[in-house]
Amino acid sequence: MLIEAKIGSIAKEASELAVVGLFEEEKELTGAAAALDSALGGRITDLLSWGDFRGTKGETSVVYPGANKVKRVLLVGLGKRAELDTERVLLASAAAARKAVSIGVTSYTTAVPEDGNRLKVEAAAQALAEGAILAGYRTDLHRTEKEPHETKPLEKVLVLLDGSKARAAAEAGIRAGQAVASAVNWARDLANEPANYITPSALAEQARQMARESGLRCEVLGPEEMRRLGMGALLGVAQGSAQEARFIVVEYKPKGKAGAPLVLVGKGITFDSGGISLKPDQGMEMMKGDMAGAAAVLAAVKAIAALGLPRRVIGLLPATENLPSGTAYKPGDVLTSITGKTIEVISTDAEGRLILADALGYGQRFKPAAMIDLATLTGACVVALGNVGAGLFANNDDLASRVESASRESGEKVWRMPLWPEYAEQIKSDVADMKNTGGRPAGAITAALLLSKFAGDTPWVHLDIAGVSGAEKETALQPRGATGFGVRLLVQLVRDWR
Ligand code: ZN
Ligand code: ZN
Repeated sequence: MLIEAKIGSIAKEASELAVVGLFEEEKELTGAAAALDSALGGRITDLLSWGDFRGTKGETSVVYPGANKVKRVLLVGLGKRAELDTERVLLASAAAARKAVSIGVTSYTTAVPEDGNRLKVEAAAQALAEGAILAGYRTDLHRTEKEPHETKPLEKVLVLLDGSKARAAAEAGIRAGQAVASAVNWARDLANEPANYITPSALAEQARQMARESGLRCEVLGPEEMRRLGMGALLGVAQGSAQEARFIVVEYKPKGKAGAPLVLVGKGITFDSGGISLKPDQGMEMMKGDMAGAAAVLAAVKAIAALGLPRRVIGLLPATENLPSGTAYKPGDVLTSITGKTIEVISTDAEGRLILADALGYGQRFKPAAMIDLATLTGACVVALGNVGAGLFANNDDLASRVESASRESGEKVWRMPLWPEYAEQIKSDVADMKNTGGRPAGAITAALLLSKFAGDTPWVHLDIAGVSGAEKETALQPRGATGFGVRLLVQLVRDWR
């Protein structure tokens, strides 16, 4: 989809559809809405005074002005002016894009919503671009029969601006929004693709191709190299599958001095059956998305490179299937990780922390400024926080607050959970350094505690995204399925890193 900025008036530009945002409880129109209203002989004011449109957030209404350069006008509610923020713009833009597609329009004109002071043009333009691109995401890749309206995606959004000063800011915002939102949609694709399409080696191929296109270094380790490195935990999980495991490294290195790198780690279980500790069949198909963390990390690195951010970033993706077979690892097995620490396997379904243990141990060799891992790790985290926010666990308060601030700015919610040492009792093993589950109480915390043992002294944050990586209901920003959660947050974190 093409999103372009142009200097001009939305009232004078010929279009199939013009989209304008309106604030709640304002009788007096301003900016683009006022210009359009006067060109249409006061039709928008009429709607407002009759009470047909109130400007509440998410509200939409189509107006047909009759013979005019502008064939249709779509009013989108922005809520109260004082509350306008990037999330409001994102959702309003998504609502507009969806409405446009539903009435069969493939292009529209619009204006950047402005509150006059708080929300800057660049941030608003970025949110506008992101909303339109995210809303257009589809999951019907493998459906051969489509409804007529599904075959006409949105092609172009033309953003009209009133001055040349706003133009540079708007264009920068649109570029950033396009880079980030298309990365989010790619992460969704990777996680939505069935496990017979995204195997560990197919994921590695996706990474290689992206790295080639983005000018990044990409290294893919196979089982032999992992054995030499001592990644016994990852190899233990992989040994039940006919698909070979892959350990994928992608590195973005900006020009000039970039300081100690940030290491991003994503859980890449391309299918989680639970292994010998087999999961119940209900909902098992969702386990194709157990690599959403890896997808988010890969997509974030892609967006960070596209934006040319001045920070070295390394993505690490341990990728394997978790299947039961005659060669599968078993409860009671003891695995030796890359750091030499040993782990007793209690449940083979607690495999995510095992592959992450090796990845975090490997990440330390880069002497990173910080390591952040994203993982669909525990059902316990879903019980705690539902489908609204990710659990945040940290061994470092400064890094935790950086991630919290990126979360607020991106709108991807996180909530910090404790890592009190008392919980460590639950993962003590009689036969090894630790065991891989600590029972039902505080299951998300004991999983994170195990990971913390592999982060060493590196400032580290773990985000448990089990509850937020997939949406059971359609929203303005997406259909059911993978959300791409984490991409926007990670890009924001790297953007803000000083
Ligand atoms: Zn599992
Ligand atoms: Zn898993």
